Amino acid sequence: CGIVGYIGKREAYPIILNGLKRLEYRGYDSAGIAIYDGQDIALCKTKGKVADLEKKFSDGTNTKGSLGIGHTRWATHGVPNDVNSHPHYSNSGNLVIIHNGIIENYASIKKELLNRGYTFKSDTDTEVLVNLVEEVQKKEGVKLGKAVQIALNQVVGAYAIALFDRNKPDEIVVAKLGSPLAIGIGDDEFFVASDASPFIEFTNNAIYLEDEEMAIIRRGREVRVRKIKDDKIVAPNIHELQL
Ligand code: GLU
Repeated sequence: CGIVGYIGKREAYPIILNGLKRLEYRGYDSAGIAIYDGQDIALCKTKGKVADLEKKFSDGTNTKGSLGIGHTRWATHGVPNDVNSHPHYSNSGNLVIIHNGIIENYASIKKELLNRGYTFKSDTDTEVLVNLVEEVQKKEGVKLGKAVQIALNQVVGAYAIALFDRNKPDEIVVAKLGSPLAIGIGDDEFFVASDASPFIEFTNNAIYLEDEEMAIIRRGREVRVRKIKDDKIVAPNIHELQL
């Protein structure tokens, strides 16, 4: 399983597609990509291989856009099928998430969200998490990063996540606990991936998030890393990758 993300000035789709191919060695049963051009979100996902996903996209799905996230899934909650594949939308259609790992207490959170009127298309723990973030946004009226942080503090489990909000076309939020997550720092562009292989040809500067850290990645800004638990700002340790 693996995750890839891009925000910058180039077309995101080829970078993410190739990145997913490089992460195939990690094993997976499904793949999906969401691309956002600031107006429309193109989301395509399928059970099967990254090559199957590529085929599905070539059926006329728009791939233009300089923000995107992609995922290969190793199913833990819900059988491998198209609907359970990532990315997943929140109920409003504004939030889009990819996730590697397991949300162990998803059932109790899901029950609460069902009581509040949320509906679920998939059987995944991941769709519960993205709707929890949405519920926090609604209830607390906080910014995206803060909402993710509050939501993750209610979660038991393991994760590498990346998500974006239709209302924030210049931002990707990522977080890590248990599963790996690297951020590639380019020139006015950023990459996200399970390891550095998807972005090694674009930059040799990377931040490896530690467990219980999250980062807010904004176009044209410095990456902000924080501790999920106590909100402390972390001075990111930028590694130089050996080429
Ligand atoms: N638990 C999530 C699911 O089953 C993510 C699995 C993964 O790590 O790919 O959809």
